Amino acid sequence: MSARELEEAVTEAGLPKFRARQLWRWVWRHGLTSFDEMSDLGKPVRAQFADMFSLGRPAVTQRLKSSDGTIKWLLRFADGSEAETVYIPDRHRGTLCISSQVGCTLTCSFCHTGTQKLVRNLTAGEICGQVLLAMDELGDWPAGKPERRLTNIVLMGMGEPLFNYDNVAKAMRIVMSGEGVGLSKRRITLSTSGVVPEIARAGADLGVNLAISLHAVRDDLRDELVPINRKYPLAELIEACRNYPGLSNARRITWEYVMLDGVNDSDEDCAALLKLIRGIPSKINLIPFNPWPGSPYECSGNNRIEAFAAKVLKAGYASPVRTPRGRDILAACGQLKSASERDRRHRTGTGKTASVAAADAT
Ligand code: SAH
Ligand code: SF4
Repeated sequence: MSARELEEAVTEAGLPKFRARQLWRWVWRHGLTSFDEMSDLGKPVRAQFADMFSLGRPAVTQRLKSSDGTIKWLLRFADGSEAETVYIPDRHRGTLCISSQVGCTLTCSFCHTGTQKLVRNLTAGEICGQVLLAMDELGDWPAGKPERRLTNIVLMGMGEPLFNYDNVAKAMRIVMSGEGVGLSKRRITLSTSGVVPEIARAGADLGVNLAISLHAVRDDLRDELVPINRKYPLAELIEACRNYPGLSNARRITWEYVMLDGVNDSDEDCAALLKLIRGIPSKINLIPFNPWPGSPYECSGNNRIEAFAAKVLKAGYASPVRTPRGRDILAACGQLKSASERDRRHRTGTGKTASVAAADAT
């Protein structure tokens, strides 16, 4: 519930408005999951709230911890569908990578999530539930304490956030609320494959940082790698980015560029990339391709990535290569969920998806 929806529900139940504010703080600032612990509410009010609302968390199906500190949770929601959330600690920040959908309707050819059949939007509650669950497990309550471990959120998990705009926007407004988790918009980054009509809306409404899954700088290649390009080609995407509200040197667009051996990693690609984004305040994020069983690509070699990165660096963009994290716990997009489905299928001996069949063959 948004703050306003909560207030309406509380006043409709005949309670004064300030009760909504008390409840909000218990939930979003203190992370309580039981009405009984809400010490400034009388017993009758607690009982009334318990009748009206439920306070829960997604169930943790798997919890994996990498030797580098990355934690990955496979979460199960009330209807049994699953999605992944990953916590990536760094020296000066801790980033939570959250999912916006179960699976993804898009089929980017290098992405494992795109091979998963089941797709639905996550609700705002399920999106926030990932943040609450992580804060529980990281010991981050009450929200906003100086030594907090979760400092940033990236919408880079499963799904295309701009295909689930309303729920994503509602969830981000909740976690940005100063009365609750209180994360600033500057600490939230939304990654999109390029749903052009929603980009301006996200900028104007939410003002979060924008990351674009670019991956190719020619329409023919991007049509293949990121098929939404057929609908919204590069020229339209770049134009929408150029017009993204509030861009400055302090607030730049992140261009995600997955390094695929012999596919998009030549010097010509690099030069075309630099030309394409010229004049837009930008960060370039070169992502070593994280292979998955049956994936049709290989990661570019280290020398190639370094040569590409050197050109990017020379053009004035700092530290462009993303360090792979959590490789030992299948931390790349969609991998844990697929592994869990595979286990289940092996146990039950039922039909396999194409990617699973390919995995078995390798
Ligand atoms: N759907 C959104 C957000 C989720 S994907 C989007 O596409 O932007 C987050 C990032 O991970 C995207 O840049 C995506 O292209 C990248 N990605 C997906 N699979 C990958 C893989 N196997 N190796 C490296 N990066 C991958
Ligand atoms: Fe979906 Fe993003 Fe994966 Fe493409 S890269 S299939 S948009 S999750």
